[in-house]
Amino acid sequence: AEQWQSVPLAPPDSIFQLTAAYKEDTFDKKINLGVGAYRDDDNKPWILPVVKEATRILLSDETLDHEYLPITGLPEFTSAAAKLILGPESPALAESRVATVQTISGTGANHLGALFLSKFYQWGTAEKRVWLSNPTWANHHAIFKNVGIEPVEYPYYDPKTIGLDFTGFINTLKSAPERSVFLLHACAHNPTGVDPTPEQWKAIAEMLVAKKHYAFLDCAYQGFASGDLDKDAWAVRFFVEQGVSLLICQSFAKNAGLYGERVGALHVVSPTKETSVKVKSQLSVLQRSEISNPPTHGARIVSMILNNPSMFEAWKRDIQTMAGRIIDMRKELFRLLTEELHTPGSWEHIVNQIGMFSFTGIQPAQSKALISEAHVYLTGNGRISMAGLNTKNIRYFAESLDRVVR
Ligand code: PLP
Repeated sequence: AEQWQSVPLAPPDSIFQLTAAYKEDTFDKKINLGVGAYRDDDNKPWILPVVKEATRILLSDETLDHEYLPITGLPEFTSAAAKLILGPESPALAESRVATVQTISGTGANHLGALFLSKFYQWGTAEKRVWLSNPTWANHHAIFKNVGIEPVEYPYYDPKTIGLDFTGFINTLKSAPERSVFLLHACAHNPTGVDPTPEQWKAIAEMLVAKKHYAFLDCAYQGFASGDLDKDAWAVRFFVEQGVSLLICQSFAKNAGLYGERVGALHVVSPTKETSVKVKSQLSVLQRSEISNPPTHGARIVSMILNNPSMFEAWKRDIQTMAGRIIDMRKELFRLLTEELHTPGSWEHIVNQIGMFSFTGIQPAQSKALISEAHVYLTGNGRISMAGLNTKNIRYFAESLDRVVR
């Protein structure tokens, strides 16, 4: 028989399919709210000014070469990245209990973290399982399945309130077997934009500790959510203080606009320095067999920004520019729907949700109608990327949304 003929044809990735359909559409008012990448008010990708500056400095530096980085990454990058997420005062950093490895952005951090758990987590006789929020970033399911860990779901989003199903979530933490692994979005939950409040995070941490669960923290949007790097890292730092067993997946794709450069890190926090040394040695072995060495360019850019005080301040301003524009779009959409158009239904969630995405709460048929009747592209679950809205198209979007929900 012919080689590979029994390979089934996989469906195309739904987000990339959406973008392709958008590109083919010739309607002048078309809007793409599918893709999770920042756009400026002219709907253009935005290179952060501080990234431009760092790139210019790197390009003129004749001492730089294209040699391999160490297996675990650029040391100035990994140490600064750990400080950024864990905080300069982190007890775990002070006690040298954090093993950090530079990864292929957040996806690579998720993969390496999952692979490490698959090999070394004390599963005992229990099945290898990870609890994922319902819903979550679709890739989480695939990443864990790839390393032989079965994804199971905990309640998270409540369609009735378009908010958090806190009771369902806490009850699952309570009823899951001890030492279960829970994946949590550190801030700006994708796809819902719904985050726990600080009080709710406290209750979650308490339950994680009481049940000795492991927290697999995915942090793809630090700074992007509130505009403040420290505020968006609050839950991570609080968990570390409370002694929750955890690892963190960190991405610089969104907050530095370095999507294609693939800059990220995995941080595994251990109870002692001795354990941390062993963990890092095994992460290094895994990394070697997967990618040998992480890429240099993006790590050099981020390292320069994190380690240079004035560039760090400039970066914070750039982050505020992005987060601020998104927050403005939330407010404007809310105003248009409630004050101008008097659109039926409640729209508070548009301003309460956080980060790049918003769950509008509309039905799949209404999402479809937005695409086919208004040329507004969004995923079937009603998720919109706020970054796709701007001062020029937001009224057209609000009017289109108003039309499909009436
Ligand atoms: N985790 C979540 C929840 C995400 O939304 C994303 C990006 O969309 C990622 C991780 C990883 O993205 P990247 O690999 O581009 O850093």
